[in-house]
Amino acid sequence: MLRLRRLRFRGGVHPEGHKQSTTDREIEPLPLPARLYLPVQQHIGAPAEPLVKPGDYVLKGQLLARSAGAVSAPVHASTSGTVVAIEPFTAPHPSGLPVRTVILEPDGEERWAERSYDSDAFAMTPEEIAARVGAAGIVGMGGAAFPAAVKLNLGSRNTVHTLVINGGECEPYLTCDDRLMQERPREIIDGVRIMMRALHAHTARIAIEDNKPYAIAAMTAAAAACPDVHVTAVPTRYPMGSEKQMIQALTGLEVPAGKLSADVGIVVHNVATAHAVRNALRRDQALISRIVTVGGGAVDTPRNLEVPLGTLVSDLLEACGLKEEPARLLAGGPMMGMVLPHAQVPVVKGTNGIIALTAKEINAGEVRPCIRCARCVAACPCGLMPLEMASRVRSGDIDGAVSYGLGDCISCGSCSYVCPSNIPLVQYFNFAKGALANQREEQRKTEETRRLAAERNARLEAAKQQKANQQRRRSEAAESTESG
Ligand code: SF4
Ligand code: SF4
Repeated sequence: MLRLRRLRFRGGVHPEGHKQSTTDREIEPLPLPARLYLPVQQHIGAPAEPLVKPGDYVLKGQLLARSAGAVSAPVHASTSGTVVAIEPFTAPHPSGLPVRTVILEPDGEERWAERSYDSDAFAMTPEEIAARVGAAGIVGMGGAAFPAAVKLNLGSRNTVHTLVINGGECEPYLTCDDRLMQERPREIIDGVRIMMRALHAHTARIAIEDNKPYAIAAMTAAAAACPDVHVTAVPTRYPMGSEKQMIQALTGLEVPAGKLSADVGIVVHNVATAHAVRNALRRDQALISRIVTVGGGAVDTPRNLEVPLGTLVSDLLEACGLKEEPARLLAGGPMMGMVLPHAQVPVVKGTNGIIALTAKEINAGEVRPCIRCARCVAACPCGLMPLEMASRVRSGDIDGAVSYGLGDCISCGSCSYVCPSNIPLVQYFNFAKGALANQREEQRKTEETRRLAAERNARLEAAKQQKANQQRRRSEAAESTESG
């Protein structure tokens, strides 16, 4: 059922959408590249452990690296071929740091590993569904890349009444979710119902920004037979796709600072994640490909491509052509996406877009002093005071920035977008969050060292005490023998 009513949304901005170039373009498959680069860490959490070695022949969908811990995701072969190396390779991250990567040379045969199609998802227990999702290596596909099974298991510990499906796609240029909803709505609804079962949720709310009328129509028609699944049009206002903002707009519930959405009975998943869950449960298919929007002013023919994971960004740019050398290359949208060091990095599970921007598109203008206009305050969807936080960060007072709410900042960039003085506010906050994380890590290490030293001292003291006791007992025994 489609609901159109006025939804509350605090702050936010209206960046130019730039979606017209790809919203009408069907999803197209990208031919297999010469090599695939599969990092063992494509998710938030512990890196997966490789199970293969150079020279091994692997089948499509075969497990290459198993998950290593509660928050981790396995990695599978995107096609059949030979593992030619396992070595460090540049990750799709601004740092340009290398990550352990399985390099696969496709044989072009697309030979699948054995799969079973006979399981009935609705006959499975919620735990079995979450386990299958975990084994398929599914992570949040809206960019967050958090292992999906961990969130699907929340229903066993919390009372989850509502599953929210994020089809907002509020970042400029990105249309991969829009196309997915237009072209595969029934599969998505199937995945949504499976996820509802895993979470014990009795309602699902699918939120789509109102600038996607075809996606809304397709999803509404597909959900018509499911009275517990509702499609809701939400205002086109960045960052509507952000989890806490979407929950508030849809339900009026506010997730308290430092809490999870499950604490208010809601779990949020992305629309592409629901599609991947359906493929895992109905087709026994691991997450080995994804849909990526390739756009930006430097791209000749912007497209939505279905891409085997591990394909290099340079292969995508070659398929779409370049009008000019990009001045900035992003994985994700221009507001929250990550700047890539170069195009020789792979598409991973969380890559929803590759955006190649021209110098004109990124020209932010000269940075000027703050005029205390408070536009950044009005734009902040989290109700923070960006100007105050930034002035603390600039003076090196990270604790001061924390007291102004740095921990609640979702790095959406709305404040930077509206600032008439072109102050790179969000960059300050990201820098401060990095410094804070390092500070906490250092603190953790110091405390750990202190704890280990205290334990060692206690062990030495106990051994000393034991030795003294033994000696005392021996002397007492000797004394009693002599006197006897
Ligand atoms: S929008 Fe920019 S200039 Fe205006 S108060 Fe905020 S930081 Fe200062
Ligand atoms: S980046 Fe942070 S401070 Fe700036 S608008 Fe977004 S949430 Fe608010």
